[in-house]
Amino acid sequence: MTDLADRIRACRLCAPRFAATATAHTPRPVAWFRPGARLLIAGQAPGARVHESGRPFTDPSGDRLRDWLGVGEEVFYDRDRVAIVPMAFCFPGYDAKGSDLPPPPLCAQTWHGEVMAALGAMPLTVLVGGHAHRWHLGRQGSVTGTVAGWRDHAPAIFPLPHPSWRNTAWIRKNPWFETDLLPVLRARVREVLE
Ligand code: SF4
Repeated sequence: MTDLADRIRACRLCAPRFAATATAHTPRPVAWFRPGARLLIAGQAPGARVHESGRPFTDPSGDRLRDWLGVGEEVFYDRDRVAIVPMAFCFPGYDAKGSDLPPPPLCAQTWHGEVMAALGAMPLTVLVGGHAHRWHLGRQGSVTGTVAGWRDHAPAIFPLPHPSWRNTAWIRKNPWFETDLLPVLRARVREVLE
């Protein structure tokens, strides 16, 4: 598995794609997993801050996600307990409106199956955002509909919205997310990690 993570870190498949973006950045894959982890966080793609830090979720989205999970950084970044596998391992760049581009599908096509096979069955998988919902659940429905149906997948899988500030209005509009889903998720995280 270490070899697999090292191979991902050496991947430069998207170099031409990233060079053509406004940031013209080079690939910097953030591969954060080890054998034996019990919680899989299946995310979207690193943002610009994570591209700089080389550690996943070192940004306000990460602060919000840790709050949703009820864990601090010492647990979140413990690779023996938590694996973080996004749908693309590199920052994709920005679109014309300044939003992050979607994860390049080539990344999941190239790596995701191999990573999932190496990790094996996980007692708890948290799906962060619609791209992870679609890959892991094989469904094309809306993020709201998928998250609202969380009881269909619990306690093994919890689909969540992306914790970006862009979803703050969504969270206010769907109060059941904080009152119903999050307490059950936090209890399950405690159970699995302890
Ligand atoms: S996004 Fe994935 S496929 Fe593209 S360069 Fe990074 S690791 Fe390789």
